[in-house]
Amino acid sequence: MTDGQDHPRPWETTRRGMMLLVSSPSGAGKTSLSRRLVSDHADLMLSISCTTRAPRPGEEEGREYYFVDRPTFDAMIERGEFLEWADVHDNRYGTPKAPVMEALEQGKDVLFDIDWQGAKQVADAAPQDSVRVFILPPSWEDLSRRLHARAQDSEEVIQKRLVKGKDEVEHWRLYDYVIVNKNFDRAYADLGHIYRSERMKPGRNPWLPDFVQALLRE
Ligand code: 5GP
Repeated sequence: MTDGQDHPRPWETTRRGMMLLVSSPSGAGKTSLSRRLVSDHADLMLSISCTTRAPRPGEEEGREYYFVDRPTFDAMIERGEFLEWADVHDNRYGTPKAPVMEALEQGKDVLFDIDWQGAKQVADAAPQDSVRVFILPPSWEDLSRRLHARAQDSEEVIQKRLVKGKDEVEHWRLYDYVIVNKNFDRAYADLGHIYRSERMKPGRNPWLPDFVQALLRE
């Protein structure tokens, strides 16, 4: 898009990409909220993690995760290919560094669906460029019901996820924003407001000083 003359508007040329880190206990709706936000915003991409866990029914290589075995994952750690990684529910999960760096260099934003350990590692390394959002379930009973309803995991795995969920929730204070996902549409609207407000911070828009200077010269 142009301004009617032949040059793009300033906000289409310089933009400092940010990292939106979204965490929650399993089953609180984080993945659905995140994927919808990404599909509604062309400048926001989803970071696809590597994991050593087995694919669930319906999951596809490169869409939900890159599914790798433990030796491959550990070799990637050795080669420094992860931005962050963590042990979660007896498996390893990690964020490949290269696609994130490439997106940020192009001024794109990146959404991470990761646990509190990963969110902390990324935000500690780049506090200016990170925004952390925590999604809470309306009740523990609701969370348990959702985990059972998706029928993707055995009872043993569900119980482990509920235990890990408590550990996850205990870290809620590390986050900049907290959303209680009682109603999906409402929670989605709140997540969108957070994202778009954060995008309007002057530091994320390096074109602003020149733009304002030009305004003042008019
Ligand atoms: P699930 O097995 O349900 O897909 O994910 C389990 C947990 O691992 C979720 O809390 C998810 O956010 C987290 N997770 C997924 N990918 C990553 C990652 O790359 N790094 C970290 N630290 N956690 C991740």
